[in-house]
Amino acid sequence: MSLSIDSFLSRYRRLPNFIDNNYVEADSERFLKTYDPGLGAEIAEVPISSSKNIDEAVSAAFEAFMKWSSRPILERLQYLVRLKILIQEKMDELAYILSMNVGKTVREGRGEIMRTLEALDSALGIPHLFMTVRKLMNVTGGEPEIDMEMVREPVGVFAIISPFNFPIMIPMWFIPMAVTLGNTVVVKPSELDPVPITYFIRLFKDAGYPDGVVNLVNGDASTSQYLIKHKDVAGVVFVGSSPVAEKIYSTACASGKRALCQAGAKNPVILMPDAVPQPSIENIVAGFFDMAGQRCLAPGLLITVGEAYEKFLEMIVNRVRRIKIGYQLLEDTDTGPLASLKGKQKVIEMIEKAVGQGAKTLVDGRKYKVEEKYSRGFYLGPTILDDVSPEMEIAREEIFGPVMPIVRASSFDEALEIANSGEYGNTGTIYTSSGKYAREFAKKMNAGNIAVNMAVAQPNQFFPFPGRKKSFYGVLHGQIEALDFFTDRKVIMQRWW
Ligand code: NAD
Repeated sequence: MSLSIDSFLSRYRRLPNFIDNNYVEADSERFLKTYDPGLGAEIAEVPISSSKNIDEAVSAAFEAFMKWSSRPILERLQYLVRLKILIQEKMDELAYILSMNVGKTVREGRGEIMRTLEALDSALGIPHLFMTVRKLMNVTGGEPEIDMEMVREPVGVFAIISPFNFPIMIPMWFIPMAVTLGNTVVVKPSELDPVPITYFIRLFKDAGYPDGVVNLVNGDASTSQYLIKHKDVAGVVFVGSSPVAEKIYSTACASGKRALCQAGAKNPVILMPDAVPQPSIENIVAGFFDMAGQRCLAPGLLITVGEAYEKFLEMIVNRVRRIKIGYQLLEDTDTGPLASLKGKQKVIEMIEKAVGQGAKTLVDGRKYKVEEKYSRGFYLGPTILDDVSPEMEIAREEIFGPVMPIVRASSFDEALEIANSGEYGNTGTIYTSSGKYAREFAKKMNAGNIAVNMAVAQPNQFFPFPGRKKSFYGVLHGQIEALDFFTDRKVIMQRWW
């Protein structure tokens, strides 16, 4: 990448699109602002791309598909190898821009890039996935013999619509698999913080990918809607909130497109009295409050069982009070601001509603004060809410902020019932030293990802990332089932005489 992030930002005060391997200006009339959320300072304008811009991006991807899909897979893999090297070289710069635009700490930004690399590593194994291709010789037993084989072909152009919290990693969960399998893509990032991915996307060009294989259009909900309905878009990948996932899934499926939508969450954590105290509390607190709680895998509800409440509460409160909230680019910051003012206001409203319904604040993040020079930033301190009942909105709906609601249960069975009563099914966690309860929980918790003594249940990239209930719309997952999702099957029957 020849352009440093500083020169990129000074050159593109208005963010460009990336079409046919070139940064191109959007011809939009409408612009939103994107911020450094720790300073509350605008860093760039985000264009709402016109339908003409989107048509150009899809058409570039569509044209490129014809040639790209016929390249040998081993050639397509070589680009991935080069891309990996470029990302490794740019690790610090990418972590910095993630931190600056999303509000996560630099450490968290680096973590995002490590996970991005893991997605690439996983895609490098694609030739092995192809070993599931079947050929049967002489299926009918007649004369002359008939052979049948199933082959896989690339599908076409995929739209990839991503959320704000991992602006590079989430598109990269899918792009390496999609393009290495011979498809082409148009990415539509979140309008809140599209700087990192708009900057990053150019690495595909630097790695040698042909024009049009990877494209990006900036915009908002209207841009995604236009994109997914586009006649030349064959498939849709979406990651974001559940109400939007539901809409996108039904729109895509109604027009016969394949879709995979990873959605919102409300992840329960059961804390048993026999949990190992120090590492469990440390881990639970990090789970709830790292990245200011803005992770689809962040725990959303703490359910204490029996005497776990008395035993651990003080430790939790003391640990949470020690979290250092601050400007995300400072090395000693534990947790930065929220990514947007709107997000912060929504979290405050949820806290207020819960307090109005009888919840008690043990730690009140609304009172958190930062230094004067950061006073325009979107900071919210960590909040612990006690006396929460399982019916309250704060116990049932995704908060996506630094809040730990605590519900008390008298037994493991009651805790499990509360954990399973929600509408989401991304993850479920238990902290215990009992193999019996851990096993029971793993068996009966209705969620796609189960964790024992781990607050954040993120599977590695070579496992699927399966959500259930309102956390996932679709059948196939973009990781282990990438071959099924990103290719079409064809059966070839042959008889020779
Ligand atoms: P969001 O749903 O508001 O937006 C996601 C994307 O969809 C953005 O690009 C946005 O522009 C677009 N969009 C918004 N409304 C739309 C509409 N009506 N039609 C078409 N497109 C629309 O989500 P967000 O606030 O950016 O991200 C946070 C959410 O994402 C949380 O719910 C979180 O749990 C979820 N998430 C899920 C996963 C997962 O793997 N399950 C991972 C990360 C985030």
